[in-house]
Amino acid sequence: MTFYSTNNSANVVSLQEALFNSLPQDKGLYMPTSIPQLPDGFIDGITNQSLAEIAYKLTKLWLHDDLTPAQIEELVTYAFPFDTPLVELEAGRKYVLELFHGPSLAFKDVGARFMAGLMSIYSATQSREVHILVATSGDTGGAVAMGFHNVPGVRVSILYPKGRVSQLQEKQLTTLGGNIHAFEVDGSFDDCQAMVKAAFLDNDLTKAFSLSSANSINIFRLIPQSFYYFRALAQLQADHAPAVFSTPSGNFGNLSAGVLAWRMGLPVQAFVAATNLNKVVPDYLSSGQYAPMASLATLSNAMDVGNPSNFVRLQRLFEEDFDQLSSLVSGVYFTDDQTVDEMIKLRDRYNYIACPHTAVGLLGLESYQQLHVDNCGIALATAHPAKFSPVVDTIFGHSVDVPERLAVLAQREKHAIAIPGTFAAFKESLLELA
Ligand SMILES: *Cc1c(COP(=O)(O)O)cnc(C)c1O
Repeated sequence: MTFYSTNNSANVVSLQEALFNSLPQDKGLYMPTSIPQLPDGFIDGITNQSLAEIAYKLTKLWLHDDLTPAQIEELVTYAFPFDTPLVELEAGRKYVLELFHGPSLAFKDVGARFMAGLMSIYSATQSREVHILVATSGDTGGAVAMGFHNVPGVRVSILYPKGRVSQLQEKQLTTLGGNIHAFEVDGSFDDCQAMVKAAFLDNDLTKAFSLSSANSINIFRLIPQSFYYFRALAQLQADHAPAVFSTPSGNFGNLSAGVLAWRMGLPVQAFVAATNLNKVVPDYLSSGQYAPMASLATLSNAMDVGNPSNFVRLQRLFEEDFDQLSSLVSGVYFTDDQTVDEMIKLRDRYNYIACPHTAVGLLGLESYQQLHVDNCGIALATAHPAKFSPVVDTIFGHSVDVPERLAVLAQREKHAIAIPGTFAAFKESLLELA
C-alpha cells in the first residue's frame, strides 16, 4: 500500500511514512495511490456481520501486502471491541447509525483506535519511542488518549484549552496516566494547535523526540471510518430502498470516508453534508466557489470549522469533477434554534435522545427526504448525548443518563500539567519528559 501527496502526485511514500509522519513535507495530504474495489458478492456476504468482522474483510482488501492475516485480526480486534448499531426511527425509511459505543463515546474512537493498533504493530520497527502531539477541542483528545493508552513504543501529549472542554471530556484526557500526558493550556484551542505546529518545526524538540501527530489529517484515521458505512447496510433488510447517508460535518473526515466507501463500490444514492452555520461546504456545493472563513461558535461545537481540513480530499475523491461531486453530495446547514427544536422533536416523536451534532445530521436527512421520496435514509450519530452534558441537560430540562464507563471517570483524580498558552512554556515542560 502506497500513498501520494495531493500537492505532488509524484511524491509517493510507504504505509509507515504516511502513518508516522501524517503530513507530507509539501503540506499536501496523503491519499491512497489506488482504492481497492469490492469483489463480487461482497455486500451480500457481510449481511448481519459485526463491525469487527466487516473491518477484517475490508482491512484485508487494503493491507494484504503489508500485514499477515493474523496481524489484521489483531488490529481489528483491538480497534473495534464495540459495534455501530443501526436504530430504526421509521421502518424502511429513517435510521440512526450510532457511532458512539466506543470507549470515548464519540465516532472518533473508530479512527483513533485503528491508527493506534497499526502504530503498535509498526512501533517495533521504529528506532525510537514515538511521541504523539495532539491539540483537542474535546472529542479527538479523548479518543486518542483512550486509543493509545498502554500502546507500547508510543507516548502521547495532549493539549487542551483550560475551561473550554466539558467536564467528562476533561476526565477522559487527564485520568489515564501512564503513557498519556495532558497539558492544560491557559489559552484557546487555536493556541493549542499553534503550539503543536511550532513543536514540529523546533530543532530541539525534533532532536529530543520522534514526534508524530494523530489529528484527523492522518489517512489511517480516515480509512477505517469508511467501514461503518458498510456496517450500516449490513443491518438493513435485503430489499431496502437505495441508501442515503446524512453526515454531520466539521472537518469532513467522516463524509470523505463515506465517499471512499462509495469509491470502493458501496451502493449509495446520495450523501448529505449537514453542517451548522459553519457552512463553507454547503455554500461550495451550491455555488462552486470555496470560500473558507473564520469559525463561528455553535451548539454543535465539534463541527465549528471554517476551513475543513479534508476538503481537498473530498475533491480528490471525485477527481476534481465538481458536477459529479455536487450531484452525489448535497449540502445543507442549520441554525442552533433549528438544532434545539429537532432535539425536542426527536425525543417527543421517537423517544430518541440525540446530541446536537446528531440532530444536525437528522435535520439534513429530513430535508433531503422532503425532496426525494423513495430511499432509505441513515443519519450518522457522532457522539453520545451525555458527552455534552450541561448543554443537553438544559435543552431537555433533566440530566441525560451517563453510561457507566463514563460515569466512573468522574471519581478519578485529574492529572494535568498547567501551562500558559505560549510555545516557550510548552517546549520547556515537554523537554522535562524527555
Ligand atoms: C469531530 C466531530 C464531528 C465532525 O466530524 P468531521 O469528520 O470533522 O466532519 C461531528 N460530531 C462530533 C460529535 C464530533 O466529535
